[in-house]
Amino acid sequence: TTPGGNRAREEKIVVTVRLRPLNKREQSSKDHMSWECIDEHTIVYKSNPNERVPQPTSFTFDKVFGPQCSTEIVYEDGVKTVALSALMGINATIFAYGQTSSGKTYTMRGITEKAVNDIYSHIMNTPERDFKIKISGLEIYNENVKDLLNSDSGRTLKLLDDPEKGTVVEKLVEETANDDQHLRHLIQICDAQRQVGETALNDTSSRSHQIIRLTIESTLRESPDCVRSYIASLNFVDLAGSERASQTNAEGARLREGCHINLSLMTLTTVIRKLSMGKRSGHVPYRDSKLTRILQHSLGGNARTAIICTLSPASSHVDQSRNTLFFATRAK
Ligand code: ADP
Ligand code: MG
Repeated sequence: TTPGGNRAREEKIVVTVRLRPLNKREQSSKDHMSWECIDEHTIVYKSNPNERVPQPTSFTFDKVFGPQCSTEIVYEDGVKTVALSALMGINATIFAYGQTSSGKTYTMRGITEKAVNDIYSHIMNTPERDFKIKISGLEIYNENVKDLLNSDSGRTLKLLDDPEKGTVVEKLVEETANDDQHLRHLIQICDAQRQVGETALNDTSSRSHQIIRLTIESTLRESPDCVRSYIASLNFVDLAGSERASQTNAEGARLREGCHINLSLMTLTTVIRKLSMGKRSGHVPYRDSKLTRILQHSLGGNARTAIICTLSPASSHVDQSRNTLFFATRAK
């Protein structure tokens, strides 16, 4: 919110909310929809008669997507311009943030698929440029970084500070995609690799962050010099369940289960809050977690960010949904 009405131009973080439908279990347990998207920017809490409701009950964002909205629409209206800026040399990051089972993975997989389609149609339509697309995939679990493209990926990778590139993940595999089919295949390998971990330790995906990073380079065929070349990263980030960000949830029963606060998620929320405050924010603590170190160059500065906050509609999840909406509000 900059004074003088030029907010849109300076807006670097697009914040949207996606409300999923009730699932079968919620339907059969007579759970009900507690939230409603009343227009394309506003989501409201639907209270029961005589219910004492904590305020506020209405939240406004760049866009809100109701349960009938397809991932296509979420992509077109909430993500596309941010994602495609990476074709012009601007680093971009797309996050899915929300409690476990709210639809982060569902949404992020669909979004990644659509972005890949768009990237390759752009390449087809831009014959004057030569493109090169590289991909890497990693997972951060308990502040340990694992390679999702390396089948021998039990190993934990180190972060190094490179004087030119900034933070790099040592020995992280980076594959060059031959074409769109190949890229989709590599993305599938990352997704499958994360799931292997999931069965071994049943709730890895609720505790871990997945980053799929595309590096998009292009040069003009006529004059392949530095001046006319672009390079940027496009990051797709499927975050750990947001219940891990909340201090209060790490107490009591959950603490006894050994469920610790997720340092990377906590730090990310602080970094995003500071970035959304703009110049007034002072020090941004990128270096406090692995996730924010890895994403530092794709967050803040000239980089563009889209955050999709996924929400369960169920009345049984109201407290977590409210926490997600508070996070989304602070990120605006
Ligand atoms: P998370 O990654 O946040 O834990 P998932 O993406 O795994 O959640 O979603 C939980 C379940 O809900 C999955 O079975 C998924 O297919 C379903 N789901 C999530 N979002 C939607 C949606 N918008 N429409 C239909 N089903 C959805
Ligand atoms: Mg998931």
